[in-house]
Amino acid sequence: MNKLIIEVRINEYAMRDENPNVPWTPEEIGREARAIQDAGASIVHFHARAADGSPAHGLEDYAAPIRAIRANSDLMINPTLGQITKGGKLERISHIEAFAHDPILKPEIVGLDPGSTNIDIFDQQNRRFVTEGKVYVNAHDTLIAFTERFRALGIKPALACWSIPFLRSAAALMDMELVAEPGYFLFVHGEGGQLGAHPATAEGLRAYTDHLPKNRQSEWAVCCKSGNLFPIALSAIAQGGHIAIGIGDYAYPELGYPTNAQLVREIVNLAKTIGREVATPTEARGILGIRPKS
Ligand code: ZN
Repeated sequence: MNKLIIEVRINEYAMRDENPNVPWTPEEIGREARAIQDAGASIVHFHARAADGSPAHGLEDYAAPIRAIRANSDLMINPTLGQITKGGKLERISHIEAFAHDPILKPEIVGLDPGSTNIDIFDQQNRRFVTEGKVYVNAHDTLIAFTERFRALGIKPALACWSIPFLRSAAALMDMELVAEPGYFLFVHGEGGQLGAHPATAEGLRAYTDHLPKNRQSEWAVCCKSGNLFPIALSAIAQGGHIAIGIGDYAYPELGYPTNAQLVREIVNLAKTIGREVATPTEARGILGIRPKS
């Protein structure tokens, strides 16, 4: 079986009120990169944040953490496209375009969600939605424009799927030869009132794996927005899937509000129990068909 790729979703837009270990300054992100690689990670996914933790989208807001990650690790880098926090269509990939010809700043992977979904959080206890108008919109013209650019720039899209129609659109992009094999799919699960994705259950995961594009080489990983990934983590690892986890997605009170590196060690131990080896960043590049860093 393939070695296990561990991608770490280090911060998203999580604040520190729940888990104080969320990194967001470039220095913190650089230190985090070293710590998670030492623990067993091979990809880092980050969101650029201002000094007060709010979303930041200036070029330097992305460049500074990328430099810090490169200086401290060999991790593959997957920066966010900012989704609903960043306006415009091609504007969402302006930082990727700006960095594409810089050997340090060019990211290996960029997350792309091939579909649209409602992402309001439902407060089960009070039986009301916390917000009511949040829609994550990715129309096909946007997806085609983005994947055309990523193909031209030699950047691999991580296809984040929130439900089965996303997988079907991703397969169409592969049929259009806009996304190369192996496809790298991220199966998004949602708990804690995040209703826009599959539940983090055996059935939720199974529905995804049943709908992987036929006759296509693909690698897939699982993550869980606003909830604990561990209920499906072992099953994903045993089936040859990969893991995308982090305190950006969920604070993990069950584990005493751990650091990202502690979460990675938990996953490495889980993989060990069934004899699955963990990929180094170099091995992970090989699995995903990404050229080694020169
Ligand atoms: Zn993200």
